[in-house]
Amino acid sequence: MKKILSMSLIAACMAASIPVMAAGEKIGLLMSDLRLERWQKDRDLFTAAAESMGAKVYTQSANGDANAQISQIENMISRGVDVLVIVPENGEVLSNVLAEAKSEGIKVLAYDRLIKFADIDLYVSFDNIRVGEMQAQALIQRKPTGNYFLIGGSPTDNNAKMFREGQMNVLQPAIDAKKINIVGDQWAIGWSAESALNIMENGLTANANKIDAVVASNDSTAGGAVQALAAQGLSGKVVISGQDADLAAMRRIVAGTQTMTVYKPISKLAKASAEMAVKLARGEKIKADGFVNNGKKGVDAILLTPISVNKSNLDSTVIADGYHSRNSVYNP
Ligand code: BGC
Repeated sequence: MKKILSMSLIAACMAASIPVMAAGEKIGLLMSDLRLERWQKDRDLFTAAAESMGAKVYTQSANGDANAQISQIENMISRGVDVLVIVPENGEVLSNVLAEAKSEGIKVLAYDRLIKFADIDLYVSFDNIRVGEMQAQALIQRKPTGNYFLIGGSPTDNNAKMFREGQMNVLQPAIDAKKINIVGDQWAIGWSAESALNIMENGLTANANKIDAVVASNDSTAGGAVQALAAQGLSGKVVISGQDADLAAMRRIVAGTQTMTVYKPISKLAKASAEMAVKLARGEKIKADGFVNNGKKGVDAILLTPISVNKSNLDSTVIADGYHSRNSVYNP
């Protein structure tokens, strides 16, 4: 009914040569965890982009609680949103609530993380396998031999699995050639720094500190691991990866205690998603790059390109993009 009215309103405006005003599409933005630095940027950039196109964005954050996210989605459905844009806390438990959304004619966009086994309309993210490859490549270039310790992200985040797949694409040939050994492999619950700190402390103890490289899947887990390495006098000696270009990580890269991060230009993700969410709300056709299979269907996908960042190119990437100011990175 809503759609028919807005279409006839547009037609009437056009007939009377009145400029077509934005229809005030309602978007429900469901964040998994706003406590992590990058997601605050995502929220702000997405909201600004969508609102500049005339939409209204309602945001809720589950702060790491998958059940809370389900209730928040239900609230958004009752509020009558046109589109749900979701960063899933657990990408495998939303089938039922999203079936409910579908029955109300609400469109669903999976933002950054894939939602599995559910009827969704679009997935917008980065090439996450490439992210994992970049992490492992940067470390193997610096330490082609030795003991490698793996710290994965949240086990309920599909991206965490894709990062690992990418990491293994690069590490497996070196393992097979007996150049490197994997001496530990753990997943940090909720991507938390505390969890990574514990994992790294135990990993160092179990290996009598004989670790040469740590494949940390993002900057929050790298931060926890670096703290454990520092306590053993090993920070700066052990190469370690990250992801997100968090400010603290950029400072660690400058200080030499973190080897690299993967910079994913969030503004591109947020703007592309906002544009697509508004199009979905208006019932317009969208142009995707391809499909990913989410276990239920082939989902239209837009996958952006990540950038590997270390000390030598951080100025020409993260800083040149205005993601962080030069001063905040170099003069904390
Ligand atoms: C994102 C990463 C982020 C992590 C923890 C992943 O799904 O792709 O950029 O570091 O979640 O929030």
